Amino acid sequence: MNTNDFSDLKLFITGPTYIRPEVRNAGSLPEFGHRDSEALKRFGPIFDNLAALAGLPKESDYQVALINGSGTCAMETTVRSLAGPDDTILSVSVGAFGDLFHKLAVTNGKKTETLHYEPGQAMDLASLERALDEVNPSLVLLTHNETSTGVTNDVAAAVALVHAHGALAAVDGVSIFGGAPIDLPEMQPDIYATATQKSLGLPAGFGIAFASPKAVAKAETVPHKGWITDLTAHLGRAAKKQTLTTPNTTLANQLAIQLDYILNEEGMENRFKRHVEMQGRVAEFVDSLDGFELFAPEGYRSPTVTCVQAPEPLKSAELKKIKETMRAKGYLFDPGYGKLNTAMESSGKQPVFRIGHMGDTTMLMLEEFLGQLGPVLKEACG
Ligand SMILES: *Cc1c(COP(=O)(O)O)cnc(C)c1O
Repeated sequence: MNTNDFSDLKLFITGPTYIRPEVRNAGSLPEFGHRDSEALKRFGPIFDNLAALAGLPKESDYQVALINGSGTCAMETTVRSLAGPDDTILSVSVGAFGDLFHKLAVTNGKKTETLHYEPGQAMDLASLERALDEVNPSLVLLTHNETSTGVTNDVAAAVALVHAHGALAAVDGVSIFGGAPIDLPEMQPDIYATATQKSLGLPAGFGIAFASPKAVAKAETVPHKGWITDLTAHLGRAAKKQTLTTPNTTLANQLAIQLDYILNEEGMENRFKRHVEMQGRVAEFVDSLDGFELFAPEGYRSPTVTCVQAPEPLKSAELKKIKETMRAKGYLFDPGYGKLNTAMESSGKQPVFRIGHMGDTTMLMLEEFLGQLGPVLKEACG
């Protein structure tokens, strides 16, 4: 097979993201037996470092599970493990990934109600409170960072409200974990679910779930959780610093190396600061272009992905052409979340595109990308 044909594009999509050479190289470290003492050399530090990235102290009552598959597997484990036959789920959606969490609840046969916001909006606490009163759920599904629209919700406030109504709160943090401070002791979610291939700057392959004692207690009472979607089964293995089923040992090597880099070389503070700076740079770029607008409202703009509404005469067809123009320049551009743009255009609205600035993307890489993208966008506007 001629692998010279494989393009080495710089990814500015919203996941998977750019992978540093050191992490690529870590993919060639030795395979190992996942029940052997060798495994502990990787997974011991992996579990500790994930807890540190989530703001957890050394002694914490949260438990961490590594779930084979991807972020969605951690989310499906959540709905299967935290809602029984008598429970009602309230799914709160501000976009495509909120809709995904909803779909997981529905397709698993859970009694589910949804609270839906217009794309581009953040959730607001007054309407959440009304929905909690009306639905009386025992589990509420929230999105921390809505990757389809570039909106970051105030999940800490929402979780507090959910708890005040006696329900458990599960948070999808897939595209923000590793790119912004996540303070679980402060946020107090019952599940915080994430994955490797977004702001952690790794290939996909593990879902990651942090579980509160209340989540664990609930999961112990829920029947028929499946097996690879049973939170208690995952946590039983995690207590031994293992995964429930055979993990991708290549990814495990990379994850061990990358978490050590994030915590002990780059440093969490520097990493989070770099993301905020990249967000600011992209906002400045959008400001400099006539007619282009940031899609998310001020105060709710994501540090890891920026969504931009394009002016007339650009339509999604033109955004797809821009994608090909940028490919020829060595970049993978994101022409927007497909279903969202279809819906936007059919209701007479302008389409959106996204710039991912997450993981190990550097300011220099971003500057080069924007330097190429700016003239392409201007030319497309005619
Ligand atoms: C990417 C993403 C998912 C899906 O995660 P997978 O790892 O692809 O399963 C879920 N939620 C959000 C917010 C995402 O960005």
